[in-house]
Amino acid sequence: MTAKTFKGGAHPPERKERSSGLAVERLRDVKQVVVPVNQHFGAPLQALVKVGDLVKRGQKIADADGRMTVPVHAPIAGIVKKIEPRTQSNNSDGPCIVIEALPPPAEGQEAPRPEDLVDFLPPLDAFACTKDDALARVRAAGIVGMGGAGFPTHVKLAPSKPIAMVIANGAECEPYLTIDERTMVERPEDVVEGVAITMKIVNAPEGVIAIEENKAYALPLLEKAIASSPRTRAGMKIRAQLLKTKYPQGGEKMLISAITGKEVPSGGLPMDVGCVVQNIGTLCAMVDAFKEGKPLIERGLTLSGGACAKPANVIAPIGTPVSEIVAAGLAQVNAEGIGMVIYGGPMMGVAVPSYDIPVQKNTSGVLFLDAEEAKHFEEETCIRCGRCMRACSCRLSPALLAVAIEEGDYVEAEKIGLLDCIECGTCSFVCPAHRHLVQRFRVGKQVLRAIKQKEKEAQNAR
Ligand code: SF4
Ligand code: SF4
Repeated sequence: MTAKTFKGGAHPPERKERSSGLAVERLRDVKQVVVPVNQHFGAPLQALVKVGDLVKRGQKIADADGRMTVPVHAPIAGIVKKIEPRTQSNNSDGPCIVIEALPPPAEGQEAPRPEDLVDFLPPLDAFACTKDDALARVRAAGIVGMGGAGFPTHVKLAPSKPIAMVIANGAECEPYLTIDERTMVERPEDVVEGVAITMKIVNAPEGVIAIEENKAYALPLLEKAIASSPRTRAGMKIRAQLLKTKYPQGGEKMLISAITGKEVPSGGLPMDVGCVVQNIGTLCAMVDAFKEGKPLIERGLTLSGGACAKPANVIAPIGTPVSEIVAAGLAQVNAEGIGMVIYGGPMMGVAVPSYDIPVQKNTSGVLFLDAEEAKHFEEETCIRCGRCMRACSCRLSPALLAVAIEEGDYVEAEKIGLLDCIECGTCSFVCPAHRHLVQRFRVGKQVLRAIKQKEKEAQNAR
């Protein structure tokens, strides 16, 4: 099979060998979880529980009306101890529901029946129910894109344009991270089933599971699962596609370009070129939501980095402080050697002050970088070498964008594509002058969006 790819990109050191061979281990007996109320891209939620309430595992604990919302569920059974602001994985404070697991029953007391501590939805056949019922299930299970921004999946699966192809994003192009790789190795049948469910919901005639060459060993497992799937046997068209190992191959626009040769237009979405892209973890969460009625209450993530003496791929309840995963011995960290902690991958993740911060629906990994990996380079003057331009897979001119932002010229920044920047960090990585390009673009996009919002409000007030 010929490996496909996109134009531009870079090759940061992969560093996946530390955890790629490690089976996913489940963290058990979590004593306390700190569940952020708002974990998705969209309108804020309200807590539905109060301090002192007994909650069951899977019970809805926060929700709101509105299309761009998904509920949050209790990841463990226990008592609500606090509802208060805590630091979240985006490094800002937000309301969190703290749940303490029930203590073991005292002597002579009867242990509660397991069914009294679980509140899942009834199973639902995705292939027999209506599209509306399927979308309602995806929302009710609190499913969001688990690879990054946490976009509500039920919104993604209700496109206003016809869909020709569902793409399972198995690229996992961020260095160090191996949780999608392990999920494809350990749950290939569920990955295929998740693609089939997505195809059914969006009425797509074709499904493609995209995987980078650096994990090509998982390809035969996927192909076997595709061949034996009852869905493909019933005629659904699903195949696996090898991609070249290159960053940011896992970006939706890059995946679509590599597989279909089509370009998502500026300001557009994958549906504009007939595609829906789904993360591997999200596909498996959808399978669980239909098969078992299980909401999104746990997720897999990779713990790695030079200061991580024992890396790991783990499944932990949402809301578990990462320090608890380490304390349980699933991973080991050389605390004195930590130069930086990052939630997410090293290219697009967020540096945080502590690893007490809980796992969220979109936490694909936590990295403990050593001093060498976290080395900070002083910015030098741009030498106009053009490397950033050649590497930008969105065909932007990062050096010019940076100048526009530095000069506060947001009209120019928007004109030359600031809002098309996917914040992949490739330009910063290749820049010989160590310009802090992506950092400027992240802040610049927030400023530009705020300016546009103000303009809109002023217009509405007229
Ligand atoms: S790569 Fe760096 S030095 Fe080269 S043009 Fe871009 S910003 Fe300037
Ligand atoms: S961060 Fe933005 S400008 Fe830089 S390479 Fe990525 S998409 Fe291009």
